[in-house]
Amino acid sequence: MKVKKLEDMQEIVSLSKRRGFIFQSSEIYGGLGSCWDYGPLGVELKRNVKDSWWKAMTYRDDVDGVDASILMHPQVWKASGHVDGFSDPLVDCKECNARFRADKIDLAADCPNCKAKDSFTEPRDFNLMFETTMGPVKDSGSVVYLRPETAQGIFTNFLNVQSTMRRKLPFGIAQIGKAFRNEITPGNFIFRTREFEQMEMQYFVKPGTQMEAMEKWKEIRMQWHIDQGLDPAKLRFHDHGTELAHYADAAFDIEYEFPIGWDEMEGVHSRTDFDLGRHAEHSGKNLNYVDQADGNKKYLPYVLETSVGCDRHILALLCDAFRVENPGEKDERVVLGFKPAMAPIKVAVLPLMKKEPLTEKARPIYEALQKKYKCEYDLAGNIGKRYRRQDEIGTPLCITIDYDTLEDEAVTIRDRDSMAQDRVKIADIDSYILNKFGF
Ligand code: ATP
Repeated sequence: MKVKKLEDMQEIVSLSKRRGFIFQSSEIYGGLGSCWDYGPLGVELKRNVKDSWWKAMTYRDDVDGVDASILMHPQVWKASGHVDGFSDPLVDCKECNARFRADKIDLAADCPNCKAKDSFTEPRDFNLMFETTMGPVKDSGSVVYLRPETAQGIFTNFLNVQSTMRRKLPFGIAQIGKAFRNEITPGNFIFRTREFEQMEMQYFVKPGTQMEAMEKWKEIRMQWHIDQGLDPAKLRFHDHGTELAHYADAAFDIEYEFPIGWDEMEGVHSRTDFDLGRHAEHSGKNLNYVDQADGNKKYLPYVLETSVGCDRHILALLCDAFRVENPGEKDERVVLGFKPAMAPIKVAVLPLMKKEPLTEKARPIYEALQKKYKCEYDLAGNIGKRYRRQDEIGTPLCITIDYDTLEDEAVTIRDRDSMAQDRVKIADIDSYILNKFGF
């Protein structure tokens, strides 16, 4: 059998739209640049990703979760360095006014948009934070920012969590939430957008032990991506080496090979005591940890951060899961080969025909399964077409109810990947699925 994997991101963009994973935001108004809406299947996929991350990161004895607000005191962003330094170098084309990131294009070349020569302005800093105002009076004192990362809501709650949960180092705080960046050149579908979701964890450690924590979390995080179903051959670490952000003393990215090439999906960064130190300084609050295990020594913990873009990980899952079997042939089949835990629909229940004795038999099977798994009940069209649709949205199992079912109390369960069909007694469906899925 010939199998074609994803070659062009456009195939995923159109499948996502056609099948209800991801739509352009405000589409009926012509769309809004780089903003995307998750549709009925996309939202299930996203929940599966977030649940998996949340369980992996917080169902452990050394990590707690929080859900901080998006709007924070403006001083937070002064202290974190974002007000003064969270910018990309911007150039304009004097000919067509198109804007580019100076570090992402060749300034000596012609303008990529209009082909004009020598047309770029000098690079200038462009702050990526979205500004808005809080309260009824719009003045400089009411400026607040949409957070450009979720991390700061963790740093500002460090003491709250440490004291209420009676935590000793090392321990972590995890959070999932929206972040906003006014990116100069967003694009590549949900790879780079101006509104996105991050899944971040800050792990607080005793200074001097940060490299040990780095090794531990690098391994845990890489394994998570593999366990999600991503092809290990398309995953690698990128070492920032000596090109570190001013606050970091070591940094690795987990990169995935997207159709656009290798690029960052997650950062695993050792951020020293930079953030806690800056917040202690700017807030005037003592954020020291008292180390009872070390003679009540007081110090600011060091921080090991893991930060993955939920949407970017979803893009990797979609790209990785996509395959076309026997392309161009009569029996061509498009499949999203998600692991069952990621599949938006776990089981489809399909009466062979839209006839009463079959639907009467099928409906209670569907209703019982729906209590446990997100299921679909589909009556429309011939069975072959219905299977193809489920293959294309990644449903691992289809249950067909046929005329024999009325006699033998058994159904046919079809496996998405092998297309093998098993005859299973209705009473055994639960254990059959449990055995296949492991949940
Ligand atoms: P990049 O170099 O791609 O701009 P970054 O190094 O600024 O990213 P971080 O600040 O480390 O990214 O953010 C952590 C993670 O958040 C990234 O690995 C990525 O998965 C995600 N992320 C960052 N910016 C965006 C964006 N504009 N759209 C979607 N996801 C993003």
